[in-house]
Amino acid sequence: MSGRGRPVVVALAVLAACARPVSVDTGPPPETPAFRVLSINDVYVADTLRDGSGGVARVAALRDSLARTAPVLFMLAGDVLAPSLLTKWYGGAQMVDVLNAARLDFAALGNHEFDISQARFEARLRESRFRWLSANCRRADATPFPNVRGWDTVRTGGVLVGVVGATIASRYPSWVSCTDPVAAVHAAIDTAEASGATAIVALTHLAVSADSALLVREPRIAFIAGGHEHTEQRVAIGDRLVRKADSDARTAVVASFYRRGSGWRVQDELVPIDRRLSDAAPVAAVVARWTDSLIAHLGPVRVLGTSASAIDVRDGSGRNGESPFGNLATDAMRAGTRSDVALLNGGAMRLDDVIAAGPITNHQMESIFLFPDETRVVTFPLTGAALRAQLTHNVKTQIGVGGYLQVSGIRYTYDGGAPPSQRSVLALTREDGRPIADSDTLVVSAVGYMACNGGDGYTMVEQSRSACARLSSAPRTVDLLMAYLAAMPGGQIAMPPTGRVSTGGVR
Ligand SMILES: [Zn+2]
Repeated sequence: MSGRGRPVVVALAVLAACARPVSVDTGPPPETPAFRVLSINDVYVADTLRDGSGGVARVAALRDSLARTAPVLFMLAGDVLAPSLLTKWYGGAQMVDVLNAARLDFAALGNHEFDISQARFEARLRESRFRWLSANCRRADATPFPNVRGWDTVRTGGVLVGVVGATIASRYPSWVSCTDPVAAVHAAIDTAEASGATAIVALTHLAVSADSALLVREPRIAFIAGGHEHTEQRVAIGDRLVRKADSDARTAVVASFYRRGSGWRVQDELVPIDRRLSDAAPVAAVVARWTDSLIAHLGPVRVLGTSASAIDVRDGSGRNGESPFGNLATDAMRAGTRSDVALLNGGAMRLDDVIAAGPITNHQMESIFLFPDETRVVTFPLTGAALRAQLTHNVKTQIGVGGYLQVSGIRYTYDGGAPPSQRSVLALTREDGRPIADSDTLVVSAVGYMACNGGDGYTMVEQSRSACARLSSAPRTVDLLMAYLAAMPGGQIAMPPTGRVSTGGVR
């Protein structure tokens, strides 16, 4: 966290919204800004998090408080409709409902907005009482998405502010077409300025390196409110800034715009969203309604055990190699199905975050496995040769992507120094070191996505056929995991050691 800039202006405003007073070093009376931008990004949960931080209702209260001294534009820099637990059932409607109540002004399209179906996505756009922005993304047929514009202007504090949106280029579903964001932003600023905008703010969902490059190449942008990274970012190019907050509204960015000649001086501050802020009551009521519906789906929050260490469920740890959490989940699959071997693709784990040490709950585990049906577990016999073929496919083609295999019940070594296409499985044994011969038959449990549907190119469809006929009643990975954790001795959740996969001394 950085605390750059003079904090007095915002600190005073925060104080006004505080549930309990804090002391503030008041200096000379601050100059009043012409307007402010309040921005958050990568918000998957509207409620306060378990660690007591975050909460969209608090951000709305901060906006109300700031608005007492200068007009505020409230923005969200993308990634909000998915993925989340509630989105499994409601397709992002819960977030739009909360942001409407919070009177959000603008949202940029983030890459995860396209995780839901086109029909759901466009329904969410139509329900939004705020404006969505993306200068570079439209439908595949080149028509704009409803309620999405490349740029917009808004008159606030006597200033016509031009807000321009941009979205990261990525591999998207076939109904989405995104062009180069930089070229699209240049064109959008041309038209926003032609419409009379005198302050240009970019609301982007780009990698921070791309934001920095955009700021260098486009001197007309006074400030970039960005998203995509989940940790706060600050890049200054001269006296212009890229600023991003921490995900899930753990913090919010406040940028105050002061006139300086014909341009702007922008003063930024990162405001922690914590219990010193009260809730905006109308927003809190909407959040509470959706939380109740989550409890209706999942049952009340239940502590499964206590973990002495943080649990890393970031994508990078589950997709690049053996991960302690992947070992835990596959151990649970094996225990719950009494199989010899369990296989789980890293992409089945969707939290992309680190769970803090302490009590671990059923809702936290549910929020890791956001594809309930794809992660049902089937159990079937597989020969040693066929198992070796799956592992060989993994080390040749799936390292670094969602098909990376987390495993339980076996150990293997592959030649990590070889080019991927030439790799092979050098040694394959059971957990206790006994070698697995090609002619052996093992009982294997694996998620239906891979075993029944051949997801990520795995080839077990023949062997799993009769087990897959009962897929719809097969146990979910998360149910096996929760039962496994709840049965750990003394309520202490112990992470299994690593050492199941070795790369022959090469990383
Ligand atoms: Zn993103």
